[in-house]
Amino acid sequence: MKAQIFAPGSTVGIIGGGQLGRMSAVAASKLGFHVHVLSTEASSPATEVAASVTVGAYDDPAALEDFASRCDVVTFEFENISAEGLGLLERHRPVRPAGEILRISQDRIAEKTRLSEIGVRLAPWRAVNGPEDLVELEMLGFPLILKTTRFGYDGKGQFRIPDVEALEALTDLPYPLVAEKMIDFERELSVMVVRGLDGTVRCFDTVENRHRNGILDVTLAPARIMPDLARQAQDMAASIAEALGLVGIMGVELFHAADGSLMVNEIAPRPHNSGHWTMDACLVDQFEMHVRAVTGLPLPSARRHSDAVMHNLIGPKDMARVPAILATDGASIHLYGKVEARPGRKMGHVNTIFPRGALPGELALEGLLPPR
Ligand code: ADP
Ligand code: MG
Repeated sequence: MKAQIFAPGSTVGIIGGGQLGRMSAVAASKLGFHVHVLSTEASSPATEVAASVTVGAYDDPAALEDFASRCDVVTFEFENISAEGLGLLERHRPVRPAGEILRISQDRIAEKTRLSEIGVRLAPWRAVNGPEDLVELEMLGFPLILKTTRFGYDGKGQFRIPDVEALEALTDLPYPLVAEKMIDFERELSVMVVRGLDGTVRCFDTVENRHRNGILDVTLAPARIMPDLARQAQDMAASIAEALGLVGIMGVELFHAADGSLMVNEIAPRPHNSGHWTMDACLVDQFEMHVRAVTGLPLPSARRHSDAVMHNLIGPKDMARVPAILATDGASIHLYGKVEARPGRKMGHVNTIFPRGALPGELALEGLLPPR
C-alpha cells in the first residue's frame, strides 16, 4: 500500500498536551493544517493552540477512537501509549512515527538491544531484571548508573552507584532496570534527525547540551567540536533513522567520551528540547520538519542560518526573570502557557542568535540573559 500524503487543509492529530505538542501544533497551523489534540486536560499547553480537542486518558479506548475519528494522520509528543492503544489507533489512521520505534523508545532494554543490532556504539550496559542480576554488574566497572526501563525523563528514575559497597547495599529496587557504566564524558551532544515518507533524511547540526539537576539547561548550536566528529554524530543519527524506518523527527542524545569516541545515550522519536534552538536559527525548524514528515510533504534543507544559544526557563525562579528577558535585545522568548510554575517544571525557553561562527565564548555565555 502506498503511504498516504496529507495536503494542507487535512487534520493532524497530536497525542499529548505538553509544550512539544503546542509547538508542533503551531508549526502545523503555519502550513495550513488543522490540529486536533488528545490531552488528559482540557486546558494544557497544546490544547490552548489547537482547533479542537479530545479530553481523555491515553489508554482509554473510547477517547482514542474519538480522537482518531477526528484526524487524518496521527503523531505524538507523548511516547508512553500502550501497545493496545497504539494498535487501536493504527487500525483507524496512519500513525507516524509508528510501530517498532515507539515500542523500543518506551523501553530502555528494547532500545539498547535494537541500537546494538543497528551497530551504533553505546555505553556498556546490562539488563537487570531482578536482584540476581546485580552480582554481574561488577563486570561493567564503577561508577554505575541504574535506570528504570520505562517512564524515565529529566533524570528521573535513576540511581548512581559509586562502588561495590553501594551496589551491595541496594534493596527494594524498581525492577526491571538497565545498568550502564558511567561515562566520563567531555560533553553531551545531540542530533535532530528527520526522515520523510519518501526516505529523505535531513539532520540539523550537532549541538552541545548542558544539564542542571538532571534537566536540560543550555544548548549550544553548533557544538564546539571538530567538523568530523559533528558529522560522525549526524551519520549515527541518520543510520538509526534509516534502520528503524522513521517517519518524523527523532532526537538522538550522545556522549562525546573523554577518549574522543561517540556513544549513543538514548533516542526520542519526537521533537526534543535540544532542538528548540532551530526555532530561531533555521528557516524550517524541528516542529515544521516533523509536521512535514508525518504528512508526507517534502523536507527542505535543515541548514542553520545562525548560531544559537538556547536557555530553558525552569520553575518559578526562571519565570521571575521573564520581565527582564522580555526587555533584553536579541533574546527570542517562547513561553508554554503553563499556569503553575512548579520547581523543575519546563515553563519556556529563550533563544539568542549570533552570526554563523560567532557563538560567544564560555565567559560571555554567562551574561547572555539577566541573572538567575
Ligand atoms: P532521561 O530519559 O531522564 O533523559 P538519560 O539516560 O538521558 O535519561 O539520562 C539523563 C542524564 O544523566 C544524561 O543526559 C546524562 O547527563 C546523565 N547520564 C545518563 N547516563 C549516563 C552514563 N551512562 N554516563 C554518564 N552520564 C549519564
Ligand atoms: Mg535524556
